[in-house]
Amino acid sequence: MFRNYSESYEQIREAVERLCDDFPGEYWRLQDQEASYPSEFVQALIDTGYLSVLIPEEYGGSGLDLKAACIILETIHKSGGNGAACHAQMYTMGTLLRHGSVEQKEKWLPGIAEGSLRLQAFGVTEPSSGTDTTRITTTAVRDGDDYIINGQKIWTSRAEHSDLMILLTRTEDRGSVSKPTKGLSVFLVNLNEAEEDSVTITPIETMINHATTSVFFDNFRVPADSLIGTEGEGFKYILDGMNAERILIAAECIGDARFLVKKASDYASEREVFGRPIGQNQGIQFPIAESHIQTEAAALMVEKAGSDFDSGKPCGTEANMAKLLASEASWQAADVCMQTLGGFAFAQEYDVERKFRETRLYRIAPVSTNLILSHVGTHVLGMPKSF
Ligand SMILES: Cc1cc2nc3c(=O)[nH]c(=O)nc-3n(C[C@H](O)[C@H](O)[C@H](O)COP(=O)(O)OP(=O)(O)OC[C@H]3O[C@@H](n4cnc5c(N)ncnc54)[C@H](O)[C@@H]3O)c2cc1C
Repeated sequence: MFRNYSESYEQIREAVERLCDDFPGEYWRLQDQEASYPSEFVQALIDTGYLSVLIPEEYGGSGLDLKAACIILETIHKSGGNGAACHAQMYTMGTLLRHGSVEQKEKWLPGIAEGSLRLQAFGVTEPSSGTDTTRITTTAVRDGDDYIINGQKIWTSRAEHSDLMILLTRTEDRGSVSKPTKGLSVFLVNLNEAEEDSVTITPIETMINHATTSVFFDNFRVPADSLIGTEGEGFKYILDGMNAERILIAAECIGDARFLVKKASDYASEREVFGRPIGQNQGIQFPIAESHIQTEAAALMVEKAGSDFDSGKPCGTEANMAKLLASEASWQAADVCMQTLGGFAFAQEYDVERKFRETRLYRIAPVSTNLILSHVGTHVLGMPKSF
């Protein structure tokens, strides 16, 4: 197991690169074609300890920071792989580590660290509320020593491959609380303990291989000690998870962008048309160079957001800006790479069309570009709110 706490970031990067060598493009292409979950890859990350880097040493993890997690995910993506199969375990940690009780950490973290328990599902989005999270309608109602949960989540990725889920619910009606963000509560629920038919998970077919689902709760009874923190205060707990999620996904986008820029520049240097490499034409060369510049600028913002998160500073704005810049950079790189490869970009064996589809997600999820612009426009620059 990876338990060398003094391992430097560079050593982590190199070790993850070696791990990814065992999972080349053919592996990811096959998962994509068969819409299958990359279990062998996830198991390799568990076995080497890289999936549990954020879990403190006392609970069996390596107690590293978000920067280490960013390096791991970025490296996976730079190799052409996809961390979406397991990144939720890293980003949900912020909610559990910062706001979970000692009992909850003792109960769950050792199993998650050793891989016998999977915390891969984050249930926030609902069909009717969309981005307007405070309008969720999934409820949790206290009943003796339990809570009873009813409602529906959508886009709950990896729910079928997870034992545990961090779940956002309403415990008080939106109309009866002082602010819409009040009255929301977060639970760490064990899906294995669901009574028959109380949790139904339905896969959604999508343009990418993301194991995403709809989850229906029908009188799902959970022990009261599944509640994280104080009832009704869950929105602020979930924000720690969301900031981590935005930063980690931004790191994945940087990996995607670096993968695509390299693909494009290698191809442009080799492919000869009209008797010379296409990369000699500035019409091909300059967009690739521009894409590289955008990517490296975005990477600096991701680093800043990650270091603010690690030092416990407020980092909502930085996490949002990092996600926006990185997802725009990876999308730009994907488009440039497609253009550079011409017709060959459409051949699956180059892994470009797959990355083009995969990286497009991040302009929409986990938070869309427009919502980030609105946050910066109103919260940072003080302009009037549109909603
Ligand atoms: C593959 C995939 C995996 C996902 N995984 C998860 C997961 O594991 N857990 C989870 O909880 N969620 C998950 N999501 C959900 C994701 O976070 C949401 O799709 C995303 O936040 C956008 O919400 P929405 O789809 O409801 O869009 P909507 O809120 O319906 O918005 C639609 C569009 O309108 C724009 N818009 C809305 N309001 C405004 C406004 N006021 N001003 C300007 N523009 C506006 C948005 O920017 C967006 O472009 C996933 C989604 C996908 C597609």
